This record gives sequence, structure tokens and C-alpha cells, in this order.
Amino acid sequence: TIVSCPLVTSQRRRLSWVQLAGHKGSFKAGDEGSILKKFSENEKLCFERLKEDALHSFVPSYYGVVERDGELFLKMKDLLAKFDLPNVMDCKMGVRTYLEDELVRARVKPKLREDLYNKMLEVDGEAPTVEEKKQKAVTKPRYMQWRESLSSTNTLGFRIEGIKRGETCNTDFKKTRSKEDVIQVFKDFIKGNKNITVIGSSLLFIHDHTERAEVWLIDFGKTTPLPDGQNLDHYRAWEEGNREDGYLWGLDNLLQTLSSLARE
Ligand code: ATP
Ligand code: MG
Ligand code: MG
Repeated sequence: TIVSCPLVTSQRRRLSWVQLAGHKGSFKAGDEGSILKKFSENEKLCFERLKEDALHSFVPSYYGVVERDGELFLKMKDLLAKFDLPNVMDCKMGVRTYLEDELVRARVKPKLREDLYNKMLEVDGEAPTVEEKKQKAVTKPRYMQWRESLSSTNTLGFRIEGIKRGETCNTDFKKTRSKEDVIQVFKDFIKGNKNITVIGSSLLFIHDHTERAEVWLIDFGKTTPLPDGQNLDHYRAWEEGNREDGYLWGLDNLLQTLSSLARE
């Protein structure tokens, strides 16, 4: 399904903004050059820690917590602001997209979600189990695991969440799973312009007709510090309890995908 893009237009500039993932309404336009994302304690702590981190120049600048209409937001740099009619792609990184804690919670106290059940039905009427059909609901980890098995999350360590190209947005990549399919989507995104093939957060790819092209690390809603003494290598297979996320494995696969475009 191709839908028209939810654009927030500021009066000051002919600045258009697009959101390719997350709940509608979780972002607001900030003052010039900034956007506001609905507050989460976790993401705030992560932004604060990233200030001191080697990765900090790859993360949107963070301007602190602000209140708007009685609600709290994280204020950050609008990565699209400098672009002229940007093309945007969101790739969600990693071999899984839910926290181990979410899995544990769902096991101890399953919260049944009718909305997620309906989303599942929309994609595949056969996907829910007999039990789930009876309940007309599924748990969140079940829904996310099912989504991961359809997309390239499990097989490549990243998946395409959404793309805006020209005037149209496409967020229907739920079944884009094989390497060939992923390569085709990337090809469409860059439309043959090889000068711009750069390389759980997501990686947000942005380019425009001036050949400005950037990649940013975004979305730290589920990024937390490891307990002392624990280390991840971000390559190993995930088994419950080892907390691995496959981020670097996914990044390798993403780079391979991109270099196969450059070779053609
Ligand atoms: P989810 O957890 O479902 O992925 P979320 O609510 O945590 O969603 P994000 O993934 O952080 O939200 O952002 C959603 C979309 O908003 C991104 O795909 C991107 O299109 C846009 N976006 C996020 N941060 C920025 C930014 N700093 N500048 C420009 N666009 C952004
Ligand atoms: Mg996201
Ligand atoms: Mg998020």
C-alpha cells in the first residue's frame, strides 16, 4: 500500500517532514531545525550517554526535554531540515526487535492485544493459532516474532521499515525478506544514482537531488546500558539470556547489500 506522507509543514520555511515508523502523533514540529519526539526515560538516558560516546557524531544532536501542551518531549535535530525534498529510508537494525524483558513479562503476565491480532490478520489470515483466533488477540512479543519471521530481521539482521521517495511513502515492507527483494528496494530508493550509495535502533538514510546523502543512527527507545561486567559482540546468534542483538552482523549484511549495488 502506498499512502500519502504525513507531512508537518512549518510556515517559516517550505520545510516538509515525514515519519516512516512509530505511532502517528509521537512527533511534533519543533522550532526551526528541530523536532520533538514523545518522551521516554530510556531514550533520554541514552541520548545523554551518547553525548560522551564515540558514536555521538552519528546521532542527531539532542537538545533536552521540553514540554508542549502538557506533554513531555525529547527535542532533537531534524535530520531532514537541510535537504531539498528529501528521499528517506528507515532500516531497523538487529536480529530481534523486542527486549528480552518484554518476552519475560509476556510470559509471566500475558497482555492480550486485539489491535496486534487485527494487524496480523490483515497480512495473513492463517497466521494466528487456533487459540489466538479464539481469544481474538495476541501478545506483543508473539506479534513481533511473527513480523521478524516474515521480514529480513532474522535472516539478514536488519529490515526495511519504510521509504519516502518523491511524493510517496511506502511502509509496507512487512514481507520483504530475501536478499534479492531487499536489493531491489534499495535500487528503487537510489534510482540508479551511484554517487549517493553511502552507507534497533534504525539507520535513517536520506538523500536528495543535489546528491546530498547522509546516514544517521536513530531511535534509542529500547537501547539500555549493559549490566556491569557483561559484554556483547553484536554478531553471535541470539539466545534468550545472552542479550545479543546482531547489530553488527546486520550492518555487515547491509554493507554487502549496498556494495552489490555499487558493483552492478
Ligand atoms: P518505532 O519504535 O516503532 O520504530 P518510534 O516511535 O521509536 O518508532 P522513531 O523510529 O525514532 O520512532 O522515528 C520514527 C520515524 O520518524 C523515522 O522512521 C523517521 O522517518 C523519523 N525520524 C525520527 N527521528 C528523526 C530525526 N531526528 N530527524 C528526521 N526524521 C526523524
Ligand atoms: Mg524506529
Ligand atoms: Mg522506537
